[in-house]
Amino acid sequence: MLAATTFAHVPHPAPTADAVRAGLVADPGFGKIFSDHMVTIDWTEGQGWHSATLGPRQPIALDPAASVLHYAQEIFEGLKAYRLADGTMALFRPEANARRFNASAQRLAMPELPEDLFIEAIRQLVAVDADWFPSVEGGSLYLRPFMIATEAFLGVRPAKEYKFIVIASPAGNYFKSGAPAVSIWVSDYTRAAPGGTGAAKCGGNYAASLVPTAEAFAKGHDQVLFLDAAEHKWIEELGGMNLFFVMADGRIVTPPLTGTILPGVTRDSLLQLAAEEGLKVSEEPYSLDQWQADAASGALLEAFACGTAAVVTPVGKVAGRDREFTIGSGGPGQLTQKLRSRLVSIQRGEAPDPHGWVLKL
Ligand SMILES: *Cc1c(COP(=O)(O)O)cnc(C)c1O
Repeated sequence: MLAATTFAHVPHPAPTADAVRAGLVADPGFGKIFSDHMVTIDWTEGQGWHSATLGPRQPIALDPAASVLHYAQEIFEGLKAYRLADGTMALFRPEANARRFNASAQRLAMPELPEDLFIEAIRQLVAVDADWFPSVEGGSLYLRPFMIATEAFLGVRPAKEYKFIVIASPAGNYFKSGAPAVSIWVSDYTRAAPGGTGAAKCGGNYAASLVPTAEAFAKGHDQVLFLDAAEHKWIEELGGMNLFFVMADGRIVTPPLTGTILPGVTRDSLLQLAAEEGLKVSEEPYSLDQWQADAASGALLEAFACGTAAVVTPVGKVAGRDREFTIGSGGPGQLTQKLRSRLVSIQRGEAPDPHGWVLKL
Protein backbone atom coordinates (compact mmCIF):
# COMPACT_ATOMS: atom_id res chain seq x y z
CA MET A 1 0.00 0.00 0.00
CA LEU A 2 1.02 3.60 -0.57
CA ALA A 3 2.47 5.31 2.47
CA ALA A 4 2.56 9.00 3.31
CA THR A 5 6.15 9.25 2.20
CA THR A 6 5.26 8.04 -1.27
CA PHE A 7 3.51 11.31 -2.16
CA ALA A 8 5.57 13.10 -4.80
CA HIS A 9 5.64 16.83 -4.17
CA VAL A 10 5.60 18.97 -7.31
CA PRO A 11 6.35 22.61 -6.49
CA HIS A 12 3.91 25.25 -7.69
CA PRO A 13 5.57 27.38 -10.40
CA ALA A 14 3.58 30.51 -9.55
CA PRO A 15 1.62 30.41 -6.28
CA THR A 16 -1.03 33.10 -5.78
CA ALA A 17 0.49 36.28 -4.37
CA ASP A 18 -0.27 36.92 -0.68
CA ALA A 19 -2.18 40.14 -1.35
CA VAL A 20 -4.33 38.51 -4.03
CA ARG A 21 -5.09 35.52 -1.80
CA ALA A 22 -5.96 37.80 1.12
CA GLY A 23 -8.53 39.53 -1.10
CA LEU A 24 -10.03 36.22 -2.21
CA VAL A 25 -10.36 34.70 1.27
CA ALA A 26 -11.93 37.86 2.69
CA ASP A 27 -15.20 37.12 0.87
CA PRO A 28 -15.02 33.53 -0.35
CA GLY A 29 -18.72 32.64 -0.77
CA PHE A 30 -19.11 28.91 -1.38
CA GLY A 31 -17.32 26.81 -3.99
CA LYS A 32 -16.16 29.72 -6.09
CA ILE A 33 -12.49 30.06 -5.34
CA PHE A 34 -9.87 27.39 -5.00
CA SER A 35 -6.52 26.96 -3.34
CA ASP A 36 -3.25 26.58 -5.24
CA HIS A 37 -2.73 22.83 -4.93
CA MET A 38 -4.38 19.46 -5.40
CA VAL A 39 -3.66 15.83 -4.67
CA THR A 40 -4.00 13.16 -7.33
CA ILE A 41 -3.68 9.39 -6.99
CA ASP A 42 -4.17 6.99 -9.89
CA TRP A 43 -5.55 3.47 -9.93
CA THR A 44 -4.91 0.94 -12.62
CA GLU A 45 -6.24 -2.59 -12.75
CA GLY A 46 -3.53 -5.05 -11.78
CA GLN A 47 -1.46 -2.31 -10.15
CA GLY A 48 -3.78 -0.69 -7.65
CA TRP A 49 -3.24 2.84 -6.33
CA HIS A 50 -0.08 4.57 -7.50
CA SER A 51 1.51 7.90 -8.46
CA ALA A 52 0.27 9.85 -5.42
CA THR A 53 1.14 13.47 -6.06
CA LEU A 54 0.71 16.78 -4.27
CA GLY A 55 1.13 19.43 -6.92
CA PRO A 56 -0.22 22.63 -8.45
CA ARG A 57 -3.96 22.74 -8.98
CA GLN A 58 -4.40 22.53 -12.74
CA PRO A 59 -6.72 21.18 -15.45
CA ILE A 60 -6.65 17.40 -15.87
CA ALA A 61 -6.12 15.87 -19.29
CA LEU A 62 -8.78 13.27 -20.09
CA ASP A 63 -9.26 11.16 -23.17
CA PRO A 64 -12.60 12.15 -24.74
CA ALA A 65 -13.64 8.49 -24.39
CA ALA A 66 -12.97 8.47 -20.62
CA SER A 67 -15.79 6.49 -18.98
CA VAL A 68 -16.71 9.25 -16.56
CA LEU A 69 -17.69 11.51 -19.45
CA HIS A 70 -20.13 8.95 -20.86
CA TYR A 71 -21.42 6.79 -18.04
CA ALA A 72 -20.92 9.07 -15.04
CA GLN A 73 -18.72 6.79 -12.99
CA GLU A 74 -17.95 9.45 -10.41
CA ILE A 75 -18.19 9.74 -6.62
CA PHE A 76 -17.26 12.50 -4.23
CA GLU A 77 -17.04 13.60 -0.63
CA GLY A 78 -17.32 16.92 1.13
CA LEU A 79 -15.72 17.86 4.44
CA LYS A 80 -14.26 20.91 6.07
CA ALA A 81 -10.97 21.78 7.70
CA TYR A 82 -11.31 24.17 10.63
CA ARG A 83 -8.73 26.33 12.33
CA LEU A 84 -8.77 25.81 16.08
CA ALA A 85 -8.08 28.60 18.58
CA ASP A 86 -4.43 27.54 18.89
CA GLY A 87 -3.99 27.80 15.11
CA THR A 88 -4.00 24.05 14.48
CA MET A 89 -5.99 22.85 11.48
CA ALA A 90 -8.47 20.07 12.23
CA LEU A 91 -10.92 17.81 10.43
CA PHE A 92 -14.28 16.61 11.70
CA ARG A 93 -14.79 12.82 11.58
CA PRO A 94 -12.81 12.36 8.34
CA GLU A 95 -12.78 8.59 8.81
CA ALA A 96 -16.58 8.68 8.41
CA ASN A 97 -16.13 10.39 5.04
CA ALA A 98 -13.44 7.86 4.08
CA ARG A 99 -15.80 4.99 4.93
CA ARG A 100 -18.69 6.54 3.04
CA PHE A 101 -16.42 7.22 0.06
CA ASN A 102 -15.72 3.50 -0.11
CA ALA A 103 -19.39 2.62 0.25
CA SER A 104 -20.07 4.94 -2.70
CA ALA A 105 -17.16 3.34 -4.60
CA GLN A 106 -18.70 -0.10 -4.10
CA ARG A 107 -22.06 1.02 -5.43
CA LEU A 108 -20.51 2.66 -8.50
CA ALA A 109 -18.24 -0.37 -9.20
CA MET A 110 -15.10 1.64 -8.44
CA PRO A 111 -11.99 0.63 -6.47
CA GLU A 112 -11.89 1.37 -2.75
CA LEU A 113 -9.26 3.73 -1.42
CA PRO A 114 -7.62 2.76 1.91
CA GLU A 115 -9.09 5.02 4.59
CA ASP A 116 -5.69 6.19 5.84
CA LEU A 117 -4.68 7.16 2.31
CA PHE A 118 -7.90 9.19 1.94
CA ILE A 119 -7.07 11.06 5.15
CA GLU A 120 -3.38 11.42 4.32
CA ALA A 121 -4.24 12.99 0.96
CA ILE A 122 -6.36 15.59 2.75
CA ARG A 123 -3.72 16.14 5.40
CA GLN A 124 -1.10 16.92 2.75
CA LEU A 125 -3.36 19.34 0.88
CA VAL A 126 -4.42 21.20 4.02
CA ALA A 127 -0.80 21.46 5.14
CA VAL A 128 0.34 23.10 1.91
CA ASP A 129 -2.74 25.34 1.50
CA ALA A 130 -3.50 26.28 5.13
CA ASP A 131 -2.99 29.95 4.20
CA TRP A 132 -6.17 29.70 2.12
CA PHE A 133 -8.20 29.40 5.29
CA PRO A 134 -10.78 32.19 4.95
CA SER A 135 -10.56 35.24 7.14
CA VAL A 136 -14.35 35.47 7.62
CA GLU A 137 -16.49 34.63 10.64
CA GLY A 138 -17.57 30.99 10.47
CA GLY A 139 -15.25 30.28 7.57
CA SER A 140 -13.69 26.93 6.75
CA LEU A 141 -11.56 25.27 4.12
CA TYR A 142 -13.98 23.04 2.23
CA LEU A 143 -12.37 19.87 0.89
CA ARG A 144 -13.66 17.99 -2.09
CA PRO A 145 -12.19 14.51 -2.58
CA PHE A 146 -13.56 12.75 -5.65
CA MET A 147 -12.88 9.86 -8.00
CA ILE A 148 -13.47 9.55 -11.74
CA ALA A 149 -13.20 6.71 -14.24
CA THR A 150 -10.46 7.70 -16.69
CA GLU A 151 -10.21 4.64 -18.92
CA ALA A 152 -10.79 5.39 -22.62
CA PHE A 153 -13.43 2.80 -23.40
CA LEU A 154 -17.00 3.13 -24.66
CA GLY A 155 -18.17 -0.35 -23.78
CA VAL A 156 -20.46 -0.49 -20.78
CA ARG A 157 -18.62 -2.12 -17.86
CA PRO A 158 -16.68 -0.88 -14.84
CA ALA A 159 -13.59 1.02 -15.99
CA LYS A 160 -10.08 -0.28 -15.38
CA GLU A 161 -8.46 3.09 -14.65
CA TYR A 162 -9.42 5.78 -12.14
CA LYS A 163 -8.15 9.03 -10.72
CA PHE A 164 -8.69 10.20 -7.14
CA ILE A 165 -8.34 13.94 -6.64
CA VAL A 166 -8.67 16.31 -3.70
CA ILE A 167 -9.16 20.04 -4.15
CA ALA A 168 -9.76 22.73 -1.52
CA SER A 169 -12.02 25.75 -1.53
CA PRO A 170 -12.21 28.48 1.13
CA ALA A 171 -15.85 28.73 2.20
CA GLY A 172 -18.03 31.31 3.88
CA ASN A 173 -21.80 30.89 4.04
CA TYR A 174 -23.45 28.26 1.89
CA PHE A 175 -26.80 29.88 1.22
CA LYS A 176 -26.31 32.92 -0.97
CA SER A 177 -29.15 34.77 0.69
CA GLY A 178 -27.62 34.14 4.10
CA ALA A 179 -31.22 33.83 5.30
CA PRO A 180 -31.71 32.65 8.88
CA ALA A 181 -34.41 30.18 7.79
CA VAL A 182 -34.86 28.68 4.33
CA SER A 183 -37.89 28.09 2.21
CA ILE A 184 -38.16 24.70 0.53
CA TRP A 185 -40.05 23.47 -2.49
CA VAL A 186 -41.52 19.96 -2.52
CA SER A 187 -40.61 18.49 -5.88
CA ASP A 188 -42.79 16.25 -8.02
CA TYR A 189 -39.57 14.72 -9.34
CA THR A 190 -37.89 11.92 -7.40
CA ARG A 191 -34.24 11.80 -6.46
CA ALA A 192 -33.68 8.14 -5.65
CA ALA A 193 -35.57 4.88 -5.92
CA PRO A 194 -35.20 1.68 -3.87
CA GLY A 195 -32.25 -0.26 -5.25
CA GLY A 196 -30.82 2.85 -6.89
CA THR A 197 -27.88 5.04 -5.96
CA GLY A 198 -29.55 7.32 -3.41
CA ALA A 199 -27.21 6.29 -0.58
CA ALA A 200 -24.09 6.86 -2.69
CA LYS A 201 -22.52 10.28 -2.95
CA CYS A 202 -22.27 10.33 -6.72
CA GLY A 203 -22.49 13.12 -9.25
CA GLY A 204 -25.28 11.32 -11.09
CA ASN A 205 -27.68 11.89 -8.19
CA TYR A 206 -26.94 15.58 -8.39
CA ALA A 207 -27.34 15.71 -12.17
CA ALA A 208 -30.86 14.36 -11.74
CA SER A 209 -31.61 16.91 -9.02
CA LEU A 210 -30.72 19.99 -11.06
CA VAL A 211 -34.03 20.46 -12.88
CA PRO A 212 -35.99 20.16 -9.61
CA THR A 213 -33.50 22.50 -7.92
CA ALA A 214 -33.77 25.07 -10.72
CA GLU A 215 -37.55 24.80 -10.43
CA ALA A 216 -37.34 25.51 -6.69
CA PHE A 217 -35.13 28.57 -7.33
CA ALA A 218 -37.45 29.81 -10.08
CA LYS A 219 -40.38 29.64 -7.66
CA GLY A 220 -38.44 31.68 -5.15
CA HIS A 221 -37.31 28.91 -2.80
CA ASP A 222 -33.85 28.10 -1.47
CA GLN A 223 -33.85 24.32 -1.65
CA VAL A 224 -35.72 21.35 -3.04
CA LEU A 225 -37.32 18.56 -0.98
CA PHE A 226 -37.66 15.05 -2.38
CA LEU A 227 -40.29 12.52 -1.40
CA ASP A 228 -39.95 8.76 -1.76
CA ALA A 229 -40.18 7.33 -5.27
CA ALA A 230 -42.75 4.59 -4.59
CA GLU A 231 -45.59 6.42 -2.83
CA HIS A 232 -44.53 10.04 -3.19
CA LYS A 233 -45.59 10.48 0.37
CA TRP A 234 -42.63 10.03 2.70
CA ILE A 235 -40.07 12.74 3.28
CA GLU A 236 -36.58 11.75 2.17
CA GLU A 237 -34.16 14.68 2.06
CA LEU A 238 -33.21 17.89 0.33
CA GLY A 239 -30.98 17.99 -2.76
CA GLY A 240 -27.87 17.81 -0.60
CA MET A 241 -28.98 17.86 3.03
CA ASN A 242 -30.76 15.59 5.50
CA LEU A 243 -33.85 16.74 7.40
CA PHE A 244 -34.83 16.75 11.07
CA PHE A 245 -38.14 17.48 12.78
CA VAL A 246 -38.40 18.76 16.34
CA MET A 247 -41.63 17.73 18.06
CA ALA A 248 -43.38 19.41 20.98
CA ASP A 249 -43.30 16.18 23.00
CA GLY A 250 -39.50 16.18 23.17
CA ARG A 251 -38.87 13.86 20.23
CA ILE A 252 -36.59 14.60 17.33
CA VAL A 253 -37.43 12.70 14.15
CA THR A 254 -35.42 12.03 11.00
CA PRO A 255 -36.13 9.66 8.10
CA PRO A 256 -34.40 6.26 8.43
CA LEU A 257 -31.47 5.16 6.26
CA THR A 258 -33.23 2.74 3.96
CA GLY A 259 -30.92 3.11 0.98
CA THR A 260 -32.57 6.04 -0.77
CA ILE A 261 -31.14 8.85 1.34
CA LEU A 262 -27.55 9.86 1.90
CA PRO A 263 -26.19 8.84 5.32
CA GLY A 264 -24.93 12.27 6.40
CA VAL A 265 -22.07 12.62 8.86
CA THR A 266 -23.82 15.74 10.19
CA ARG A 267 -27.05 13.74 10.54
CA ASP A 268 -25.29 11.03 12.52
CA SER A 269 -23.50 13.56 14.74
CA LEU A 270 -26.72 15.47 15.48
CA LEU A 271 -28.53 12.25 16.38
CA GLN A 272 -25.89 11.65 19.04
CA LEU A 273 -25.89 15.24 20.27
CA ALA A 274 -29.70 15.35 20.43
CA ALA A 275 -29.76 12.17 22.53
CA GLU A 276 -27.21 13.77 24.87
CA GLU A 277 -29.52 16.79 25.16
CA GLY A 278 -32.15 14.43 26.55
CA LEU A 279 -34.28 14.32 23.42
CA LYS A 280 -35.93 11.11 22.33
CA VAL A 281 -34.32 10.40 18.99
CA SER A 282 -36.41 8.61 16.41
CA GLU A 283 -35.38 7.44 12.95
CA GLU A 284 -38.76 6.77 11.41
CA PRO A 285 -40.70 7.48 8.22
CA TYR A 286 -42.48 10.83 8.36
CA SER A 287 -44.93 11.88 5.69
CA LEU A 288 -45.37 15.29 4.11
CA ASP A 289 -49.07 15.29 5.09
CA GLN A 290 -48.13 14.56 8.69
CA TRP A 291 -45.54 17.31 8.65
CA GLN A 292 -48.11 19.84 7.46
CA ALA A 293 -50.68 18.63 10.03
CA ASP A 294 -48.14 18.69 12.86
CA ALA A 295 -46.95 22.17 11.88
CA ALA A 296 -50.56 23.37 11.95
CA SER A 297 -51.48 21.69 15.24
CA GLY A 298 -48.33 22.71 17.04
CA ALA A 299 -47.20 19.09 17.51
CA LEU A 300 -44.14 20.10 15.48
CA LEU A 301 -42.10 23.04 16.69
CA GLU A 302 -39.10 23.20 14.39
CA ALA A 303 -37.54 21.65 11.32
CA PHE A 304 -34.01 21.93 10.03
CA ALA A 305 -31.77 20.65 7.30
CA CYS A 306 -28.20 19.56 7.89
CA GLY A 307 -25.04 18.79 5.99
CA THR A 308 -21.37 19.65 6.00
CA ALA A 309 -21.67 22.65 3.69
CA ALA A 310 -24.53 24.49 5.42
CA VAL A 311 -24.12 22.77 8.85
CA VAL A 312 -27.60 23.23 10.38
CA THR A 313 -30.13 25.34 8.54
CA PRO A 314 -33.60 26.06 9.88
CA VAL A 315 -36.56 25.42 7.57
CA GLY A 316 -39.06 28.27 7.77
CA LYS A 317 -41.46 27.61 4.93
CA VAL A 318 -42.57 24.62 2.87
CA ALA A 319 -44.42 24.86 -0.42
CA GLY A 320 -45.49 22.38 -3.07
CA ARG A 321 -47.91 22.08 -5.97
CA ASP A 322 -50.92 21.88 -3.64
CA ARG A 323 -49.74 23.21 -0.32
CA GLU A 324 -47.88 25.89 1.58
CA PHE A 325 -47.17 26.01 5.28
CA THR A 326 -44.94 27.72 7.81
CA ILE A 327 -42.83 26.05 10.50
CA GLY A 328 -43.19 27.66 13.91
CA SER A 329 -42.79 31.40 13.51
CA GLY A 330 -40.99 30.93 10.20
CA GLY A 331 -37.64 31.75 11.79
CA PRO A 332 -34.91 29.67 13.40
CA GLY A 333 -36.12 27.52 16.31
CA GLN A 334 -34.47 27.34 19.72
CA LEU A 335 -33.44 23.72 19.60
CA THR A 336 -32.19 24.08 16.05
CA GLN A 337 -29.91 26.89 17.18
CA LYS A 338 -28.79 24.97 20.24
CA LEU A 339 -27.86 21.85 18.27
CA ARG A 340 -26.15 23.96 15.66
CA SER A 341 -24.01 25.77 18.19
CA ARG A 342 -23.20 22.52 20.04
CA LEU A 343 -21.99 20.94 16.81
CA VAL A 344 -20.12 24.00 15.58
CA SER A 345 -18.36 24.51 18.91
CA ILE A 346 -17.10 20.91 18.87
CA GLN A 347 -15.99 21.26 15.25
CA ARG A 348 -14.08 24.43 16.04
CA GLY A 349 -12.49 23.04 19.16
CA GLU A 350 -14.37 25.42 21.47
CA ALA A 351 -16.15 22.64 23.38
CA PRO A 352 -15.04 19.28 24.77
CA ASP A 353 -14.92 16.47 22.22
CA PRO A 354 -15.95 13.36 24.17
CA HIS A 355 -16.50 11.32 21.00
CA GLY A 356 -13.06 11.99 19.54
CA TRP A 357 -14.63 13.54 16.45
CA VAL A 358 -11.98 16.21 15.89
CA LEU A 359 -8.78 15.10 14.17
CA LYS A 360 -5.98 17.63 14.62
CA LEU A 361 -3.75 17.76 11.57
C1 LIG B 1 -23.43 15.05 1.30
C2 LIG B 1 -24.91 14.94 1.37
C3 LIG B 1 -25.61 15.10 2.56
C4 LIG B 1 -24.97 15.54 3.86
O1 LIG B 1 -23.97 14.70 4.30
P1 LIG B 1 -22.89 15.26 5.34
O2 LIG B 1 -21.98 14.10 5.55
O3 LIG B 1 -23.63 15.62 6.56
O4 LIG B 1 -22.24 16.41 4.69
C5 LIG B 1 -26.99 14.90 2.54
N1 LIG B 1 -27.62 14.57 1.40
C6 LIG B 1 -26.98 14.43 0.23
C7 LIG B 1 -27.74 14.07 -0.98
C8 LIG B 1 -25.60 14.61 0.17
O5 LIG B 1 -24.97 14.47 -0.99
